[in-house]
Amino acid sequence: MCRKTLRLSPDPKGISRAADILRSGGLVAFPTETVYGLGGDARNAAAVARIYEAKRRPPHNPLIAHVAGINAARRLAQFDPRAEALATAFWPGALTLVLPVRADSRLTPAMTPEGAGTVALRVPKHPVAQALLTAFGGPIAAPSANPSGRVSPTSADHVLEGLSGRIDAVLDGGDCPVGLESTILSLVTPQARLLRPGGIATEAIAEVLGGPVASGKDTGVLTAPGQLASHYAPHAPMRLNAEFPLDGEIWLGFGPDCTAAEVTLSATGDLDEAAANLFAALRLLDARAKGRRIAVAPIPDYGIGEAINDRLCRAAAPRDST
Ligand code: AMP
Ligand code: MG
Repeated sequence: MCRKTLRLSPDPKGISRAADILRSGGLVAFPTETVYGLGGDARNAAAVARIYEAKRRPPHNPLIAHVAGINAARRLAQFDPRAEALATAFWPGALTLVLPVRADSRLTPAMTPEGAGTVALRVPKHPVAQALLTAFGGPIAAPSANPSGRVSPTSADHVLEGLSGRIDAVLDGGDCPVGLESTILSLVTPQARLLRPGGIATEAIAEVLGGPVASGKDTGVLTAPGQLASHYAPHAPMRLNAEFPLDGEIWLGFGPDCTAAEVTLSATGDLDEAAANLFAALRLLDARAKGRRIAVAPIPDYGIGEAINDRLCRAAAPRDST
């Protein structure tokens, strides 16, 4: 696949063009509040196959179906009272729910893991994502718009760096406000299970459910690429929890004490700001590293800090373990 990738404005003309491309089986990257998604028609097998091809994504990693609202989601999956409560609390927003798929969903089989009978659903909040979903009028399959295993894109430029010539268009909606992927929660078992920490804090989910959330990592079963050891990886090697940089390191700071940092995630120690800056900072440091290692200051592990640390651990994991 080699073609020119259009950069579309997120105005009515650009949205309508993007929806036409989706209807004809093409691929359009679009902004969501988390990261840019690589969209294709979730009911078109060829379009979904193109997503895997463009990203070079391993075939066993299923995709999230994005829909405009809870009514559209109910047409694809079975909602129990927990799903209803979580959707009411967090949709539109950065929470993906894994639910039993409905027999009449018309989703292409690649959208539902073999034999599991489940589907991952999300209602994004970003106005451009909402406008595209409304114009298209159906579910859009959309993993992050980056080559598999690499750092997720939080701007249209990031998308083009990784996928230019491999997709039809990108809707340029500026920087993504949350900056980290959605939280993925499985509701197919009696106890809710966290498959990937993300933009909605686990504590907030537990509060709505009225009880603790199990960790997907306990199962030993790979159900989300976020569970792969190496993922979200820059090219440069990394060292975490670095109180200061060593010789041959370039430092990514957090908080007011990191004055020697090359780049700081948040000078005031604000975790939301750090999440929004994380992926762009990793890209910038990767470009400047020139053979040096990226050392990262400690990040608190509560709220969205759990997701930041999860991404940093996978970015730092040995590369031969994927
Ligand atoms: P990405 O969009 O690349 O950030 O990743 C989407 C995530 O959703 C992947 O980790 C998938 O494995 C996960 N996912 C999608 N569908 C399912 C499903 N039915 N069950 C479990 N995980 C899923
Ligand atoms: Mg991804």
